[in-house]
Amino acid sequence: MLVGVVRETFPGERRVALTPAAVPELRRSGFGVVVEAGAGLGAGFPDDLYAEKGAEVVSDRREVFARADIIAQVRGYGANPEAGRADLPYLRPGQYLVGFFDPFANPEAALELAPTGVTVFALELLPRITRAQPMDALSSQATVAGYKAAILAAEALPKMFPMLITAAGTITPARVFVIGVGVAGLQAIATARRLGAVVSAYDVRPAAKEEAQSVGARFIELPLETAGVEAGGGYARPMDEDFYRRQRELLTAVVAEHDVVITAAMVLGRRAPVLVTAQMVAGMRPGSVVVDLAAERGGNCELTRPGETVEVNGVKIIGASNLPATVPYDASQMYGRNIVSFVRYVFGRAGPDFGEEITRETLLVREGEVINRRVRELLGLPPLVREGVG
Ligand code: NAD
Repeated sequence: MLVGVVRETFPGERRVALTPAAVPELRRSGFGVVVEAGAGLGAGFPDDLYAEKGAEVVSDRREVFARADIIAQVRGYGANPEAGRADLPYLRPGQYLVGFFDPFANPEAALELAPTGVTVFALELLPRITRAQPMDALSSQATVAGYKAAILAAEALPKMFPMLITAAGTITPARVFVIGVGVAGLQAIATARRLGAVVSAYDVRPAAKEEAQSVGARFIELPLETAGVEAGGGYARPMDEDFYRRQRELLTAVVAEHDVVITAAMVLGRRAPVLVTAQMVAGMRPGSVVVDLAAERGGNCELTRPGETVEVNGVKIIGASNLPATVPYDASQMYGRNIVSFVRYVFGRAGPDFGEEITRETLLVREGEVINRRVRELLGLPPLVREGVG
């Protein structure tokens, strides 16, 4: 089968779905690779590197769509809602698409993909089971986002992160508070610690305590009833507004004590909970920084504007969006490895087995239908009754 890699067209997207290093891995498993010229440039991978590794580089984007059996993208239509539409006429029945499609935030895109006859695997839907971990692109990219969030905070803060004892006096370390200890939060903690900050962390899931401590954070516990908060696979359940109100009350004093607050609290398929209000920001010292990793999901901070930095009473609120694209070299290597693992797993044998768990769960669109049950619900469609789908 031929795997096609196209240049990403989402504004500011510099990642590429496969790096040159991934080409021989796919070829060893019997796949060919065709790459649109310039696809890897933004991430630091020129065309000749792909060619050296055995990929065919073609200048016409349409040719990649016309020839490839599997199209690998970072942001497929849905995760690239405007520019991505231009590719819809190039799609053809029987073709497979693999990438991010943002199906919960943009389920209508799946409805538009369905009539093209393509089969779409959305990596956001990958089940959280051990054997799927090498394909877990959400986690690999969250790792990059968490790292970059700490770097952005360090850059914006008028203080240094580490403690320094010098002839010019002692500099106290920055105090960083990470809210939401998922994959991104953990990497933000680890990075802030490496830079020398004193780091505290909080998450609604009790299991997060040990993980936060293992990367060097002090874990803040709040007197809240958290029974039933674990939704499985590490995901948190949405809580009711009363719970979030109480949480904000309890977090107010903690937030005020810190120079930096990095928020990374997410609930799969939902708007992110608001955990830092304007009033809480008003309680922070001027010069403090909030980096909101949930900006694209509505924001954990009430004042967040996605893709922008706003300053209120001297506090900067950074609405971090698409941070993995700002570290495109490594983000693409990690993403590319996820794609290779997925392609080998799903297409490596006789072709996709739609009854198998990873294949079935990741399926968004097939045979003209939106398949995923939750996405169908969001679209107001009845569940599918065919065997092996839904
Ligand atoms: P996520 O992006 O869904 O959410 C980030 C964090 O926000 C979660 O830890 C969640 O508990 C937290 N959160 C949600 N609501 C909150 C609130 N009101 N207050 C405070 N925190 C809140 O999560 P993620 O980064 O995808 O991962 C979460 C966990 O899942 C991690 O422990 C990770 O190690 C684990 N994980 C497991 C697998 C696997 O088993 N294959 C794969 C990936 C991640």
